[in-house]
Amino acid sequence: MERTWHKPLPAADLVIRGGRVVDPLSGVDTVHDVLVKRGKVAEVGRALAAPKGAREVDADGMFVLPGFVDLHTHLRTPGREDEEDVASGTLAAAGGGYVRVFAMANTEPVVDTAVVLRGLIETARTEAVVPAGFYAAVTRGLKGEQLTEMAELAEAGAVAFSDDGRPLATAALVRRALQYAKVTGRTIAIHAQDDSLFRGGQMHEGAVSARLGLGGIPPLCESLDVARALEVAAYEEAPLHVHHVSAAATLEHLSRAKAAGLRVTAEATPHHLTMTDEAVASLDSNLKMNPPLREEDDRQALVKALQEGLVDCVATDHAPHAPMSKDVPFEEAAFGTTGLETAFAVLYTDLVKKRALDLGTLVTRMSQAPAAIAGVEPPAIRPGAVADLCVVDPRATWTVIAKGFRSRSANSAFLGRELSGRVRLTVAAGRLAWEADA
Ligand SMILES: [Zn+2]
Ligand SMILES: [Zn+2]
Repeated sequence: MERTWHKPLPAADLVIRGGRVVDPLSGVDTVHDVLVKRGKVAEVGRALAAPKGAREVDADGMFVLPGFVDLHTHLRTPGREDEEDVASGTLAAAGGGYVRVFAMANTEPVVDTAVVLRGLIETARTEAVVPAGFYAAVTRGLKGEQLTEMAELAEAGAVAFSDDGRPLATAALVRRALQYAKVTGRTIAIHAQDDSLFRGGQMHEGAVSARLGLGGIPPLCESLDVARALEVAAYEEAPLHVHHVSAAATLEHLSRAKAAGLRVTAEATPHHLTMTDEAVASLDSNLKMNPPLREEDDRQALVKALQEGLVDCVATDHAPHAPMSKDVPFEEAAFGTTGLETAFAVLYTDLVKKRALDLGTLVTRMSQAPAAIAGVEPPAIRPGAVADLCVVDPRATWTVIAKGFRSRSANSAFLGRELSGRVRLTVAAGRLAWEADA
């Protein structure tokens, strides 16, 4: 069953010369040429002969990696095409080395019927630069009341179900959602948030929020909701995916659930893996996100969990916002940061270069692990595989600036940061999806 769709582009023919091929799934980390023929990896080896008509790409000193897969993108369409749409969002993805993105259902209208979902699939077939797939909502209108027609939505192509942006607010709702999702063979993903603890919250509850006089969102707001959902999932023997883990306390629940054999997976964002609430003291509204940036202990626990695989994958939670939602006082600003175009460079600069995470693990967590969770073929750089790869120059340093994005929105938490690692080329589903200007 197809889970992603893209526009028809010509199949790529190219030879990528002399890059460091890092493909943990194939057990490869060595300097090789990669020959892509009619969109497929034909050969990986030394001094490969270039067939007639094939492009030569000099990757000397660069990484050649399995392309990244984002389980958590907001493409904002239908409804807010001023912020993002399929074309702009997937081009941003390609520019970040992504070869698959999965979009959340909290659009206007919500993706809660097969009609809306089919419309998006049609758009992806004509506009998506890299293959895009779609979540469907768990409840109609994300209202937390009536379940959507999950069987019909799964049949129409929904990759999974999520009310992201809103929690599943009662145990009964979590239970019914899991029961129905199980029948469809799709997973329920949760935006964990206990509303009674969230209310009025602007940022992480701690010393910084106290100093700034801003309403706090305690880690308990997340960990409590995760704990409950895990209990219900264990009871129903149903799989569960946890969006954007931010708190160390949540990791403890995940660890126990995994040890007990529960089919639970979890994602963490580049911003939660690299930043803390200290940064929010600037009152920069681009640092306002939900869940909020937490404390250094949480951040370090997240990094360790990512290294060990307790957190299965990186997901961007790419959340484009129009300037009118962000160029306002912190208390009035919308939650969210963009992330597709900075994810690899941020994690490479802040974690890999500082030896908090190894490159192979980062590749697994950004590419092959999320692909497996989505139920799509994990990108691999080996003969016979469809070419889903990116070429990254780790020596290239660049500064994140508002004008530099392909995304339609520029609300990045990383504006002004100098980063190492620039994506030079992305081949998605065998098609050249991105090539950086020289
Ligand atoms: Zn969320
Ligand atoms: Zn989200």
